[in-house]
Amino acid sequence: MTNSERRPLVAGNWKMHTTVPEALNLTTAIRQKLDPQPRAEVLLLAPFISLWPIRQLLVNEPRIGVGAQDCYWKKSGAFTGQVSAEMLRDSCQYALVGHSERRHLFGDDDKIVRRKLEAALAAGLRPLLAVGETGEERRAGRTDAVLTEQVRAGLEGLPEGDLLQCSVAYEPVWAIGSGETAASGDISGAIGEIRSLLEQIRGGAGTAIRIVYGGSVSADSAAEILGLPDVDGALVGGASLDADDFCAIVRAAGE
Ligand code: PEP
Repeated sequence: MTNSERRPLVAGNWKMHTTVPEALNLTTAIRQKLDPQPRAEVLLLAPFISLWPIRQLLVNEPRIGVGAQDCYWKKSGAFTGQVSAEMLRDSCQYALVGHSERRHLFGDDDKIVRRKLEAALAAGLRPLLAVGETGEERRAGRTDAVLTEQVRAGLEGLPEGDLLQCSVAYEPVWAIGSGETAASGDISGAIGEIRSLLEQIRGGAGTAIRIVYGGSVSADSAAEILGLPDVDGALVGGASLDADDFCAIVRAAGE
């Protein structure tokens, strides 16, 4: 399968932004500005408390999916403040796991990320696994080693049916929220490395998995990044909070 056969995915990661009314307004604005039939699948990764209201707003809206930014792996119990994948299943279709802010601010290591990914699958959610090297790892020439560790820890050994539910986001940590995107050659190199890992892990099924890029994607940089062969879409932080910018990125993913 080539990237022209994989449907692009553009996910907006709203992080810890938007109250519930603001989230509903942003969803409505995106809905109004989206093309009638975007080629890309559009996904809103909203804060937990807004997922259910957004889902209600989007009944009969096939263009936009909803996802959680994280999930906890236990189904239920005495885990104050946590939200389980099981609790999310009625509110959304996707769950992001392994985002760099979870890994670096909240201690989600590869083992925890794997538990979350498996819990998402068990709850019927489609995982979006985020991986990427820090600036220090990059300077030390460890990018490929870090990607190998994170991708293998996240996906190796999954049954084929489960693997096919997953997508991967390559997000160099130093590019997230910095306004600095990775160079095209570096993006292609890293995504090519992830693609060959997926093929080693699962042969043909590995070619069907979408690999998107994330890290300071904007309406201005989208065309170049999304035009790269093998880039199957984008995970967008800051620019996803502006409906015009986000819809421009969705459009660029379809071209
Ligand atoms: C992100 O949150 O995953 C991200 C890529 O953020 P930004 O687009 O703001 O760099």
